[in-house]
Amino acid sequence: MKRFCIVGAGFSGAVIARILAENNCFADVLDERPHIAGNCHTERDAETGVMVHQYGPHIFHTGDARVWAFVNRFADMRPYRHRVMAVAGGRVYSLPINLLTINQFFGQTLDPAQARAFVAARARKDIAEPANFEEQGLSMVGEELYRTFFEGYTSKQWGCAPSDLPASVLKRLPLRFNYEDSYFDHPWQAIPAEGYTAMIARILDHPNIRVSLGRAFTPADAGDDHVVYSGPLDRYFDYAHGRLDYRTLDFERFTATGDYQGAAVVNYCDEAVPFTRITEHKHFAPWERDEISGSVLYREFSRACGPADTPYYPIRLARQQKTLDSYLERAKTLENVTFVGRLGTYRYIDMDVAIKEALDTAETLLRR
Ligand code: UDP
Repeated sequence: MKRFCIVGAGFSGAVIARILAENNCFADVLDERPHIAGNCHTERDAETGVMVHQYGPHIFHTGDARVWAFVNRFADMRPYRHRVMAVAGGRVYSLPINLLTINQFFGQTLDPAQARAFVAARARKDIAEPANFEEQGLSMVGEELYRTFFEGYTSKQWGCAPSDLPASVLKRLPLRFNYEDSYFDHPWQAIPAEGYTAMIARILDHPNIRVSLGRAFTPADAGDDHVVYSGPLDRYFDYAHGRLDYRTLDFERFTATGDYQGAAVVNYCDEAVPFTRITEHKHFAPWERDEISGSVLYREFSRACGPADTPYYPIRLARQQKTLDSYLERAKTLENVTFVGRLGTYRYIDMDVAIKEALDTAETLLRR
């Protein structure tokens, strides 16, 4: 039986382990944390009974039928529409920027065609090919909307000038000229009824999978087994070419009774407010929310990730490219190691992309 050593029990590691196990391979899954599911980890709050997304909001959404079929094998995926509100300059707006936001912000009653023309008249036309986040924002929505909704939030979230960030970060968000206020465009949007940790436990529940928690990886653990590594790319190489930058998050937990803010996520776009958003976790589970009287909330603060912190977001600044290239070059030369996931490939990818790539990687490994 072919053996694999899988480092990390988040989506990437778990999905690969499962596919390998179902094809008569053995998967030894190691994770240094005391729990599975990586940053998707969910846990029921002892005080209130609310299912808490321990590492911040995770909403599953995909347009990929294979990924959707896969997740449905392991969880009762409950339909969930993610809506986000934005507080800016003492007022509340609808996000992502849509017809309601435009009409609220400019005090207008524009219809879709008028709003399109109105925003186009404000957008910067001299930026043909946006080279960074700021240019992308200014050429998409113009000065006023950019400064109000993107500039402050982004400076807090990434700890750098938006002009230093790639345009791709803003391309995650849609701009709509209708009243659709769902945060995502994908046809399938859902949250597992019992949380992500229960779902990943089911993915890992196979006789050919062994899970060891609280075990940091050292190459000796793998022996001759092929390694699938979903930890931070730079860490695998002992930071030999320097550190890649990540953002980490701090959460300030507080509780309330009833419904504190009326939505799962409220963004605070003003730079003067030190946190980026407040998450009210009970709204992620509308099917049980009304039976729960208490509420758990997280104020979310973003900062540079130090050596002892949990990495969340890879920051792909232009000045990091040389360091990243050095690691990617070295990674390519290691025939016995496959790098996967958000941290292993140092890319800002969503859960569905991690799952899709994991399914593809497992198939490639099986063909070797
Ligand atoms: N963003 C922003 N204002 C907002 C929401 C998002 O400027 O109110 C920017 C910010 O730079 C953020 C990026 O858009 O990092 C992507 O937002 P998303 O909601 O996808 O971030 P995530 O939930 O992955 O942290």
